[in-house]
Amino acid sequence: MLVTLVCSALLLAAPSVAQSPNPSDPDHSIKPGDDFYGYANSTWLKAVATPTGPAAYDNRAMLMEKNSQRVRALIQEAATSHPAKASAAQKVGDYYASFMDEGAIESRKLTPLADEIAHIAAITNKTSLSAYLGTTLNSEVDGLVANADHVLGLWINQSFTERRNVVHLWQGGLGLPDRDNYIDASPKMAEQRTQYQAHIAAVLKQAGVADPGAKAERVLALEIRIAQAFAPDADAADVFKQNNPWKRADFAVKAPGMDWDAYFQSAGLGDQSDFVVWQPSAVTGVSALVISESLDAWKDYLTCHLLEHYATVLPKAVAAEHFAFYSTILAGAQPPEDRTQSGIAATNGALGQAVAQLYTQRYLPPEAKAKAQDMASNLVTAYRARMSNLTWMSPQTKEKALAKLAALEVIVGYPDTWIDYSTLNIVRDDAFGNMRRAEAFLRSRNLAKLKEPVDPIEWPINPQVPGAVIMFSPNAEFFTAGILQPPYFDPSGDAAANYGSAGAGMAHEISHSFDELGNIYDAEGRLGGWWSAADRDQFHQAAAKLAAQMSNYCPFPDLCINGEQVLTESIADLAGLLVAHDAYVLSLKGKPDVVIGGLTGEQRFFLAFAQRWRKLQPDAALRKQIATDTHLPGPYRSDSVRNLDDWYKAYEIMPSDKLYLKPEDRVRIW
Ligand SMILES: [Zn+2]
Repeated sequence: MLVTLVCSALLLAAPSVAQSPNPSDPDHSIKPGDDFYGYANSTWLKAVATPTGPAAYDNRAMLMEKNSQRVRALIQEAATSHPAKASAAQKVGDYYASFMDEGAIESRKLTPLADEIAHIAAITNKTSLSAYLGTTLNSEVDGLVANADHVLGLWINQSFTERRNVVHLWQGGLGLPDRDNYIDASPKMAEQRTQYQAHIAAVLKQAGVADPGAKAERVLALEIRIAQAFAPDADAADVFKQNNPWKRADFAVKAPGMDWDAYFQSAGLGDQSDFVVWQPSAVTGVSALVISESLDAWKDYLTCHLLEHYATVLPKAVAAEHFAFYSTILAGAQPPEDRTQSGIAATNGALGQAVAQLYTQRYLPPEAKAKAQDMASNLVTAYRARMSNLTWMSPQTKEKALAKLAALEVIVGYPDTWIDYSTLNIVRDDAFGNMRRAEAFLRSRNLAKLKEPVDPIEWPINPQVPGAVIMFSPNAEFFTAGILQPPYFDPSGDAAANYGSAGAGMAHEISHSFDELGNIYDAEGRLGGWWSAADRDQFHQAAAKLAAQMSNYCPFPDLCINGEQVLTESIADLAGLLVAHDAYVLSLKGKPDVVIGGLTGEQRFFLAFAQRWRKLQPDAALRKQIATDTHLPGPYRSDSVRNLDDWYKAYEIMPSDKLYLKPEDRVRIW
């Protein structure tokens, strides 16, 4: 945290001219051909304090910190400035204000839960249990979550085989993060389970359940059985193993136990016939538990999870118990909880696009978004030309690749049409009600998609978050307003730097739609490879040369890069750089290069690319990255430039320079 604050202050300060250099200036004492990363970043690396803890610090970390401060300020401003009734700002401000109104929350005690608790108490048989479980099938989860909040998780997205929205179901219902927390026999995990059981007992006691100690043991035993039915991690992450289409009638046959009629009816899915079951073992397992476990164990489990789910908007004792277990014991955070931070996160979660409207009005106005769109469209044009000229791809495959590129939606900044929150009532003194109404709003919005065609440009991420998301299915990529800012992108700044930095990043992501990761999805996001075996061989041959180049990098005398491990991402880095360079040239429309700050456009393009990767990282973190990460460490990502003839020309690189590669050793894949 200390490092982050120091860096933010430093980078936000106006560049001073005479006394100290701008942190983004290159270091002219280093020869670009010997150490391009050092030439580009040494001024910044010296200006920023070395992290003292295990954390690394880079552009992304800086933007995360900067944007969380911006979003915090916007939400707090909305809460105090009395915006117009029913406006985005009113909903945002009142949601946050209600969350922070701990007095109002305290005065209601647990009464907001009364109807749910009565509902659980009324469970008397398998059918009423199934019906209640159906009400918990919420759509607050998405395809990226390993363990859904309730016994099954719901996502409405297109099917893996046709462009039609269907119900996706996957495993969930564990209070601990994952399957291993329940079945791993190590002393550390066993200790964690003991602590979790004590936590369950504390929650049940708060709910007024008699004999909470014995009941907690029973709840934990039930969760262990749920975890035992989870798919192994490797299977859970394999899309071909996730693609299990089930008809409605299959549930009773393949997963007996649950009263599926009652379950789907109360989930609002009674009329659905097609489902994709991501982990069949989990559905089968939890369904069998409806019969094999006692109703009382289920009722205690549901009561406990009900309080956990709403803990942040329930009285202080409940919220504190929740924080003590999840944030302090599991995640190592120091008490007390930062309520402001929780309130900001909750508001972003419930009203993400309302917050985004406030964010983009201030930080990415339409003219700036239009500049980013221009860049995206030049990148796609450049990609099309490069793909058309490939020699290793067969004509048939090339046709499919070009069709996929033509269909790819590259979306920047924020949606053209925002989510309409007008039917979501947000009340300033009702935190619990607001959370519940926001969940119901999201749920009905998601269920409505089942009656609508697939919308490939629906945003999967809040635009205020610095980030990029690839949706192979339905075939779209999103680059947020949060990431379209300096040092990656400056709408009123230098095009050469924008293309070298944000442009290369966007082109990197676009290339994933056509590589080892994306080639299993077609133009409409349907699963099924379109590369021939011969194409794959050719691709691997071209890539092997790049893997060998990477394996020559040895950050420590006893530790070198594993070229195969980082190959897919390194291919994307190279593709991103090549395509962004072509697109930069396109953007000039034949106009001559201009010199700024003593550097040509070509030089500034490559400089900005190298500055994308600046990173302060303690040795232990670097060693860990080399052992586990599929991305190269920053300095070597920056060295992708070695494969571009234009870099040699721009910086007059000579054969005697350390980074020099003979023309025949420069890798070309895309
Ligand atoms: Zn990547």
